[in-house]
Amino acid sequence: MVDFADTPDQGRFRTEVRDFIEQNLPGELETRSDSVFMFGEEPSDERREAIKRWRASLVERGWIAPAWPKEYGGADLTPMEQFILSETFAETRAPRLGVHDVGSTIMVHGSDEQKREHLPPLVRGDTVWCQGYSEPGSGSDLASLQTRAVRDGDDFVINGQKIWTSNAHNANWMFALVRTDPEAPKHRGITYLLLSMKSPGITVRPLHQMHGGSEFNEVFFEDVHVPARNAVGEINRGWYVGATHLDFERSSIGSAVGNEQTLDSLRGFLVDERDQQSGRSRLAEPGGARLDLADRYIEAAVARTLSQRIISMQARGIVPNYEASMTKVFGTELGQRIYRTAVKLMGAYGALTDRESAWTPMRARWSTLHLRSVAFTIEGGTSEIQRNVIATRGLGLPRG
Ligand SMILES: Cc1cc2nc3c(=O)[nH]c(=O)nc-3n(C[C@H](O)[C@H](O)[C@H](O)COP(=O)(O)OP(=O)(O)OC[C@H]3O[C@@H](n4cnc5c(N)ncnc54)[C@H](O)[C@@H]3O)c2cc1C
Repeated sequence: MVDFADTPDQGRFRTEVRDFIEQNLPGELETRSDSVFMFGEEPSDERREAIKRWRASLVERGWIAPAWPKEYGGADLTPMEQFILSETFAETRAPRLGVHDVGSTIMVHGSDEQKREHLPPLVRGDTVWCQGYSEPGSGSDLASLQTRAVRDGDDFVINGQKIWTSNAHNANWMFALVRTDPEAPKHRGITYLLLSMKSPGITVRPLHQMHGGSEFNEVFFEDVHVPARNAVGEINRGWYVGATHLDFERSSIGSAVGNEQTLDSLRGFLVDERDQQSGRSRLAEPGGARLDLADRYIEAAVARTLSQRIISMQARGIVPNYEASMTKVFGTELGQRIYRTAVKLMGAYGALTDRESAWTPMRARWSTLHLRSVAFTIEGGTSEIQRNVIATRGLGLPRG
């Protein structure tokens, strides 16, 4: 029998996390916590300060990167304890400040020197990272990437272009896949490099998105010098380091924690809303809305089980692979269904995007996320690519 109940130790840990949040969460973050990083919305100075204080108390506990060893700023928590931590944060709506997945990749493939140099500042929030993988001609077929890195003494010199680089405008570091051997078969001539965004020769140009934000960019490299010691893993074997990174990214993108809370806020909002003519809640009508909402709750429960599988694999020291793709496909497509359901159930109001208008429900949270959610099934590898991974690595089908 599968028993999802907490063991006594897990129960104690859950209480500890709840107590910590109650005692340390700054008042400014208690409301609208889910919009701390609302797309396209800059936090006020007050909120920024509160986020800083919150980060400092999490850093002290090691709860920014809770799985990492204490010497790198973690808390040595088991995967199950991490899950409880994330779940409790979601339940209490406390903002969960984590580290970029690059940290986990450095933890697996980096040298001791790279771990000491990069992991503690990542935890403290002193370094902000962006991912230089995609190029104008290389997305799904990433191994065809052309950005060139040529050895020059102790350095590599980089020329080329990346695109769709999220947060490059705020980042001070990038991890990039670059071509170091153009003669080798395409997967074998790539290196995974860490580079400072302050290096001379880098230009960042923003790209605008349909939800009104500008989260990603084009990044151009012109004779950019990067020390060769910044290669993670072996030179020309970076494809495999980059793939580990994607496994981590896909496991966490698909994370189910929070879906139920998102649905609870939607349900709460709709229960209070009254139709102007009938005076009844839309959720009281038979059929339609209530059935859609029930479906989303069922799917959220499935997503939770998929996440639990990932946790149990990580607990056994296995990096999830096609399982991460399953979680990513299901979690991101569920995210899209949740926001589609939300705007549908709000009727014409669901289409409003002006956050300041009194007519717009919940400061345009649902309409903005509905637009943003289109990208869920593209970023981190499209749903088609995830299904290909499941077909080949999971089901053993021949490559297409
Ligand atoms: C919001 C957002 C943020 C992003 N952030 C980053 C980032 O920070 N860093 C970064 O490097 N990249 C980032 N990306 C880029 C993202 O990884 C790519 O968009 C993605 O991998 C798809 O590549 P592409 O856009 O070139 O599409 P293409 O690869 O050209 O694909 C076009 C279509 O063809 C389909 N397709 C392609 N190949 C196959 C196949 N073999 N079988 C079946 N169907 C196929 C795809 O599924 C897709 O529908 C981001 C993208 C988005 C939308």
